[in-house]
Amino acid sequence: ANSTLSSYGTTVFEVMSRLAIEHGAINLGQGFPDTDGPLEVRQKAADALLDAPNQYPPMMGLPELRQAVAAHNKRFYDLDVDWQSEVMVTSGATEALADCLFALIEPGDEVVLIEPLYDCYLPIVRRAGGVPKLVRVEPPDWTLPRSALEEAFTERTKLILLNNPMNPAAKVFDREELAFIADLVIRHDAYAVCDEVYEHILFDGRQHIPLMTLPGMRERCLRIGSAGKTFSLTGWKVGYITAPQDLLAPVAKSHQFVTFTTPPNLQRAVAYGLEMEQSYFDGLAAEMQAKRDRIASGLADIGFGIIDCEGTYFITADIRPLGFCGDDVDFCRHITLEAGVTTVPVSAFYQNEAIDHYVRFCFCKRDEVLDEAVARLKKAF
Ligand code: PMP
Ligand code: GLN
Repeated sequence: ANSTLSSYGTTVFEVMSRLAIEHGAINLGQGFPDTDGPLEVRQKAADALLDAPNQYPPMMGLPELRQAVAAHNKRFYDLDVDWQSEVMVTSGATEALADCLFALIEPGDEVVLIEPLYDCYLPIVRRAGGVPKLVRVEPPDWTLPRSALEEAFTERTKLILLNNPMNPAAKVFDREELAFIADLVIRHDAYAVCDEVYEHILFDGRQHIPLMTLPGMRERCLRIGSAGKTFSLTGWKVGYITAPQDLLAPVAKSHQFVTFTTPPNLQRAVAYGLEMEQSYFDGLAAEMQAKRDRIASGLADIGFGIIDCEGTYFITADIRPLGFCGDDVDFCRHITLEAGVTTVPVSAFYQNEAIDHYVRFCFCKRDEVLDEAVARLKKAF
């Protein structure tokens, strides 16, 4: 067996979801909404499934979805994108990440990443032969350590993989931080793979700023989005990459042998979704913000230390004030078994010297589910 792959355990999301099912717990671990996204979008998928051909769509994606992605870039970020040469559809952001990293990384290339890390980043970078250079942000304020970031960039840096808004930190990078990162990318003649799947889930009036919109970054960024997050349809696995032609071309080579294509009816429906009115996108953020506030106040009431949540549908809580004996992993197991609520330990998102007293709650759930989870936890502590 391949030694890199066999050394990996099973991802924390699967482990905790299985445990939740086994114990009949409310699953606030793995990130997925418990209500499906817009009915009109699902109706489009159903119609397309019955009406249209269900054969291989073009490798780069259905023209109507690529056009919609280009138009979405213009509408929200004033980015001019050529849909034919600069947009590719993938089977989820996960495939997009794999395509980008396999296409751009040569063995020995250095890749800058910011911990805490979404689960698939490091395994893909390593499998591509990349040498990870990790920089960490930490709760409670997740401050970007600028000198450490500067040191992480060297003449061997191929790219930075940046997740903004960031899972699980719920951090939204501001323009100044992005400018700092952009400057390093330009100085080291590197690229940026930008995982922006939570681009429409920002709170308290914050606006998403794609790194790609900063001066000098248009030609260095590969920007990744996901219909799973934007339309609360995580099972669909429809993603999209926007990148300059010379970067997208090698990524398409990778894509052609990974999945080649993505179900056509889902592509058609996502094209429709991306063109929905502003009120849909505003409504998504507002709804998630209300849920954030709901769970934050419930958890604070119980005694958790609540860390600021600027975007995404995850919130980090400090378990120390509860006086629990054990680390975050023990805690997550304990509350699954004893309270019937499942979360994930934040240490699972760090490679080394993990801080071990924070847990991540996923709050894209119906209000009554959030309330019931809080009530169960209250009883247990
Ligand atoms: N990146 C991040 C930061 C995510 O949270 C997720 C979803 N869990 C993904 C990528 C994967 O998205 P998709 O389901 O579209 O593959
Ligand atoms: N992105 C989701 C999360 O962070 C999980 C996706 C998965 O299970 N692979 O929880």
